[in-house]
Amino acid sequence: MVGQRQSTNRMQPTQNVGTRRNQEGLNLVAKRLDGKAIASQVRSEIAEKAIKFLAREGMKPHLAAVLVGDDPASQIYVKNKRLACEKTGLESSLHLLPATTSQSNLLETVERLNADPSVNGILVQFPLPKSCSEREVVLAIDPLKDVDAFHPYTVGLIVDGTPRFLPCTPAGIQQILIREKIETAGKEVVIVGRSHLVGRPLSIMLSQKGPHADATVTVCHSRTPNLEQHCRRADILIAAIGRPEAITGSMIKPGAVVIDVGINRLADGRVVGDVEFESAVQVASAITPVPGGVGPMTIAMLLENTLKAAALQHGEKFN
Ligand code: NAP
Repeated sequence: MVGQRQSTNRMQPTQNVGTRRNQEGLNLVAKRLDGKAIASQVRSEIAEKAIKFLAREGMKPHLAAVLVGDDPASQIYVKNKRLACEKTGLESSLHLLPATTSQSNLLETVERLNADPSVNGILVQFPLPKSCSEREVVLAIDPLKDVDAFHPYTVGLIVDGTPRFLPCTPAGIQQILIREKIETAGKEVVIVGRSHLVGRPLSIMLSQKGPHADATVTVCHSRTPNLEQHCRRADILIAAIGRPEAITGSMIKPGAVVIDVGINRLADGRVVGDVEFESAVQVASAITPVPGGVGPMTIAMLLENTLKAAALQHGEKFN
């Protein structure tokens, strides 16, 4: 998920909207939406619920992570997810398979975890080696343990407006908006990126009827002409592109809320988002930084899904 800057990917703005000024004519700088602090709050709420779950059911909610091969980035992602489980009072287990593993071996592992009543959530870390089919693995996971929310059944429930699990990054973004009291009802939301991981499910969630949604959502992608015009209409602009600093301040409506999902590692080692922070912060009213914005929320929502899975598997309601 971490891209490398090849050349300049920045899109060329057609107009310069300038900076926002207050009545004294001083430049206004956007509020930083501190995903790290919100994630920490979410994790402590989960920790409290996990203690109560343990007292009621005699077990900790349990996330099983399956890691195939030795991709260093995947190893770090899995390690961080397991560490977050540990710190929050959730059980985690690691199921390591060699890069040479066969598809049937991998599916057997998933089936074993499906059948294991001590396992509540299953996470298979992607990408998988080329010899394995991610699609088949997604389809093999029991929808009741589908804490990544990739299974078509889970996606169908989201489209239906009766979600069971929400995908972690879109859920994290929605939580930032909720907890920062950023209204979405009746707002123009523009999402740049239509991936199944982020843009597509988020567009469904925010355009649903009901609380924390009710937005008018536009989804842009690589074939969208006049991207900057769409972006400049947005009350809430969400960038999930995977191109370093592609959205510049001049593409943002003054006073808009900007959510930057991108995580891009540059050749010099710096990690930047899909939004050019320095120019955006002068125009937006609020913005998520990278790092420290959406990223920490993703893991927090994985923990929440695991807790929810455990509750549902024990016939409990979850809220
Ligand atoms: P992805 O699967 O590569 O999808 C990228 C989307 O951006 C595609 O829909 C693509 O359009 C669109 N796009 C690419 N170039 C574009 C352009 N020039 N103009 C308009 N749209 C363009 O990426 P992803 O998995 O959604 O991830 C996006 C970014 O978020 C990455 O930087 C990733 O590392 C990051 N991410 C962060 C988290 C987190 O926890 N913070 C989680 C997931 C992802 P097409 O569909 O037409 O190709």
